[in-house]
Formats: sequence, C-alpha cells, structure tokens
Amino acid sequence: MDALKAMVPRAVLLFLALTLGACAGTRPALPRRDPAALRYYVTYTREPQRGLGVEIVLLPSSPRDFLFRQPERVDTVWAVRKDGSSRALRLHGGELHVPSGTRFLRYFYPLESPSRGGERSFFSGVGEKDAWHVAGRAYLLRPRVVTPDLRVDFMVSRTDALLPWLPDDAGLYRLRGEDLVDSGFHGFGGRRCEANVGDAVLEVALLGRFMHLSDREVCDWLAQAAREVITVRRTFPHPRITVRVVPVPGAEEPALFGMVQWSSPPSISILVGQDTTAEALRRDWIAVHEMLHLTHPTLMPRVAWLTEGLATYYTEVARARSGRQTPRQAWQELTDGFARGQSAAGSRTMAEVVAREGDWRGVYWTGAFFALRLDLELRRVTHNRARLEDVLELLATQGPTSSLAGFGAAVDTVAGEPLFDALLSHQLSVPAFSDLGTLLDRLGVRIDPGGVKLQAAPDSGLREAVDGGRSSDDAG
Ligand SMILES: [Zn+2]
Repeated sequence: MDALKAMVPRAVLLFLALTLGACAGTRPALPRRDPAALRYYVTYTREPQRGLGVEIVLLPSSPRDFLFRQPERVDTVWAVRKDGSSRALRLHGGELHVPSGTRFLRYFYPLESPSRGGERSFFSGVGEKDAWHVAGRAYLLRPRVVTPDLRVDFMVSRTDALLPWLPDDAGLYRLRGEDLVDSGFHGFGGRRCEANVGDAVLEVALLGRFMHLSDREVCDWLAQAAREVITVRRTFPHPRITVRVVPVPGAEEPALFGMVQWSSPPSISILVGQDTTAEALRRDWIAVHEMLHLTHPTLMPRVAWLTEGLATYYTEVARARSGRQTPRQAWQELTDGFARGQSAAGSRTMAEVVAREGDWRGVYWTGAFFALRLDLELRRVTHNRARLEDVLELLATQGPTSSLAGFGAAVDTVAGEPLFDALLSHQLSVPAFSDLGTLLDRLGVRIDPGGVKLQAAPDSGLREAVDGGRSSDDAG
C-alpha cells in the first residue's frame, strides 16, 4: 500500500502540469467544456505486486455513491481526507458510500493470471509480464448513478494503455460519465500495430508473444476482416476502433474467443492461440464476426438471436464476397450451421429456442436462418433493389441504439410495405428450420453426401445476389 501512496501524488502533479501547460499554450479558443466532476488516475505498478493503482479525486460536485459492477479482486477502498488521514471502506455487494470530507478514493486492483485463457480471466485480467487485458468494468469503481452531464477526466501512467477512447495531446481522456458505465476493454503494455480500411483505423494492442506470427501478420488479419465489413456496410461503421489481441496457449483454432463491448466507440478483444500461423488465420471467422457486430445498432432490450443471427449470417456471406471463401464454401458453412442449429432445436419452435439464451447454438443459427429469410424476402418484394444491408444502413442514420420494434420499422421502410412482423411471428411459431428444405431447394443449394452443390433453381439468381454482394450495383 505504501508504494501506491508514494506514486499517486506524482500522478496528480503530472496532471496539474499537463493542464497548466495546456492553459498557457497558444491554442485558439476551444469550445468550453464543463469542468470534470471526477478525476481518475490509474497507475500501473510492478512492485510489490503487479496491478493498477486507482485514485479517484472527488470534487464538491462529485457523486458520493459508487459501485463495482464485478466486485472480485478489490475488497477495500481507502477514503483519504484533506488532512491526509485515511480510512478503509468495505464494499457491500460492490457498493460504497463515500463519507463526507473525503478528498480521494484509492484502491489497488491486482493483475494476476493463475490460469490463462479462461473466459472469466478475459474480463478480470489475462496477460503476462507487463502486457495485460482487462475489462474496464472489472477494475473501475464508478458512480452508482451517472447523470448525462457528468464529466470525467481520466489518466493512465507508467504503462502504454490502449483504451476505447482517444486521449488528447496531453494523454488525458476527457470522458462522459456514461463512458464509465460502458467502459469496454482495456489493454496495458504490449506492442501496437495499425490496420486501415478506407478512412477508418483499427488501433491494435498485441498483449503477449506469438511463436510463428509477426505483428504485421496479426494486423493484416484484422484488416482483412475490416474489409469484409465493408462488403456489408458502405463504409466502416466507426472512424476508429481499438482491438486487443491476447495470445493464449493452444493452437487447435486460430482465434479462440472474441467479444465486442459497447464502449463508445465499441471495443473488441480476441484471444488467439499463441502457436497459430498466418495460414490458419486465413480460416478464422471470429475477427470478422466480432467486427460485423459493429454493423448493427445495439438493441435495447437485448435481442441476442437477432444480433447474433445477423453477425453469423454475414460472417459467411462477407467472406464469400471478399473472395476469402467461394460461394460454395459459404453455403456449406451456412447449411452446416443450420444443421447444428436444427439438432440443437429438435422439434421446438423458434420462440422456444430463442427463449433459452444459454442454448447458443440454437440462438445463433435460428437467428442466422431468420436473417437469410429476411434478406431474401426484402430482395423478393423489391425486385432485388433492396436488401438486408439497406436496413443496417438506415438504422445507422438513426443512432447507435435501437429496439426490435425499431429494427422492424426499418425493415418495413426499406421494403416499402409491412413485412417484418408477419415474417417474424410466422418464424417464431413454427418449428425452427421447418422451412429450410424448401428454401434451399428454391435457392438451388443441394446437400449431397460429398458436400453442398450449387445449381440453377427458381431463386438461384437471388442466391448469387446474396453471396456476390454489391458488385452488381457498383458496376452500374
Ligand atoms: Zn457474436
């Protein structure tokens, strides 16, 4: 604890120096920003223990009630008064009330990785030496209630951090209170590379060592996935996002696990087998799947079958459009997935399948099947002038969040007629995948013992428009 006390004032001094420096400079008048009501100083430490020392400076306008969303590794927070005296505060179910007269809150978040690669340590901390991955919500104590006008200054020192947000020139993150609520994934230390697609940039942190892979090859893999996103959306959905790549033992699959967190902008993290090769990464679907989640709004309340369905459907379609897989391979992947979904679903209706979120195979693939049905239906009623991507494009103009009803309304707008509710209620009420066979027949997708064959059929033109993407109207 002494080491922590010794280093915090230095962080405060550094902060003062930086803000004074900014005031004394000759910058033209910037729009005035409300003064921050909270200041966070995060300091990486090695001794006596690896971890993050966090100091929160409270101002008279600061909230007094705080909480840890995931209280696991911190049980004591120190409240420091103006005279320097401090008092240990115990957390109750992650919650904490700050006594009056408190100037600072301080605590230490240990970084340790007893068993690397588990999904749990993905949030609470996975890494090695001085390169660490941790979810913001695991280590950040945040106000229990965040008002829209709450401003937060945030600084990290003694390590190179890759946070979802862009710091100013002085390294200061000027955040809104809600950034502490949806704080995304954070990376500390490690190496960096960059991937570009159009005008968008992916800032990448490599948090550990690969045996057979250069940093450039990792960034090339992510750039390929980002290019596949723009076979679905006209431009990459964000000008800048951050991706953390964490090598973990094992190589049976190139990427092992990935996730997007809804920070602003969203942040992506992926666990990758440390023995994987560039060749194996060409077969990976996880990076493009996670990035495809950027193409749809956040649905509130959550509708996992729809968002996972969209990402799962486009994962195969986009890789065909980019040429990473042939159309035949894409339909093989889709029909294999539908078969896995069907065996998970049994005789249950889609409504029964998606009611159980833990049944992820059923949820993902009934959702992907619905996305295919919806895409085909939109193309059919508009004589191939509109498609499911147009719905995503329209929703993107309406803001970062939507709802199932908002999604349905966008479908109907693009279709030019009511379509969504009837299709959805039909699909929900019948046994999942019950119309799959008829649909594949009409598309000319035949499942032979040796694999999928594509052939001429009443709707094979629609099928080719799906896996061929936007090229037809790009040419015209
Ligand atoms: Zn997903």
